[in-house]
Amino acid sequence: MDKNFQEEFTQIIKFTPPLYKQRHQFVKDLVEKYKPKKVADLGCADCSLLRMLKYCSCIEVLAGLDICASVMKENMHMLSPLPVDYLQPSERSLTVTLHHGSVAHKDPCMLGFDLVTCIELIEHLEEPELKKFPEVVFGFMAPSIVVISTPNSEFNPLFPGVMLYRHPDHKFEWTQAQFQSWALETARCYDYSVEFTGVGQPPTGMEKAGFCTQIGVFVRKYPQTGESVQSEKPTEAVYKTVFKAVYPSLKDEKYLQNAVISEVIFTAQIIKHRLMSKHEEYDDDDPEGKSKFQPSMNCFSDYLGKLVVEKGMEPFVSGNEVYIPLATIFSFPKVNRLCGTFEKLCKLIAGKVTLSSDGSAVMFNIEDEDE
Ligand code: SAH
Repeated sequence: MDKNFQEEFTQIIKFTPPLYKQRHQFVKDLVEKYKPKKVADLGCADCSLLRMLKYCSCIEVLAGLDICASVMKENMHMLSPLPVDYLQPSERSLTVTLHHGSVAHKDPCMLGFDLVTCIELIEHLEEPELKKFPEVVFGFMAPSIVVISTPNSEFNPLFPGVMLYRHPDHKFEWTQAQFQSWALETARCYDYSVEFTGVGQPPTGMEKAGFCTQIGVFVRKYPQTGESVQSEKPTEAVYKTVFKAVYPSLKDEKYLQNAVISEVIFTAQIIKHRLMSKHEEYDDDDPEGKSKFQPSMNCFSDYLGKLVVEKGMEPFVSGNEVYIPLATIFSFPKVNRLCGTFEKLCKLIAGKVTLSSDGSAVMFNIEDEDE
């Protein structure tokens, strides 16, 4: 590398967005591409990658592991569900767990993952730990994808002030050839393929230096199911769980029931309002009054009107009560999607919503405002 050219660049190297964000975005893109359900982040540090990944809707299980409990604990509260998660539970389930332990040790809680990320981890491992790492991650955990990032030492001369390593805790920093030879040998041993890429583009004219952060994406060549992994690899638990959050989800009957009841009452109220406003108009035209209301296309939204005409699911007023057929409510897309079947709707609202004596309609008193 030309020394003058090099010195010129050492003054101006600055990544936008910052390099750690580019690394995390790289993982997020990988998640969006492969849609893993279970993701483990090894060497998760302050949980910043986990915080980003919890918004990826394909992920149902998210785990972090670090040898330093205090760094994980600093921000782990940010992995807890927010009030909005309880107000509007998501359709997917999500469990986030943090473990305290070393990647040099096997623990059954790390089995069954689809994607394992090791972002800027390996260069922190002592030699004996680095030796055990491939057997733990590729041999024991054996996820379908592993992503490993590590500094590219060939880029270091472009950084002002980097004498030996970029961080005092780094035990080594590899050239591209060193990383690739380690990764290819690991992939060969454990039957994975590996492709190399990186983030942090070198400046024009310095392409030979390579990416500032080098990345290997390993893909398992053989199929394996979560169950067979669990049963074939009994081992004792050695990690300590330091955090666990189970997010409210509509997969949980309790949250589904609340959501369905709210949606049924909301839908029925809207239908009642439209019905009653038409009823009042009708009464004005007919001062003698009629106890029975005949709905017409004009008194509902197009959608409700269609239901009434095509399927005969008419809301009606009788005496002081308004009746909204459950079949009409079930036809509304959101209720339909939440319940799946009419039987499920009936089961979820039983005893929670006032129904007509035959159970076929939601019943409101005309006088009652928005119960
Ligand atoms: N992955 C983080 C940063 C990692 S820094 C990010 O993307 O920003 C490296 C982390 O690895 C540190 O938090 C350190 O405590 C952890 N670590 C070091 N040795 C470890 C080991 N043997 N097992 C698990 N974690 C380890």
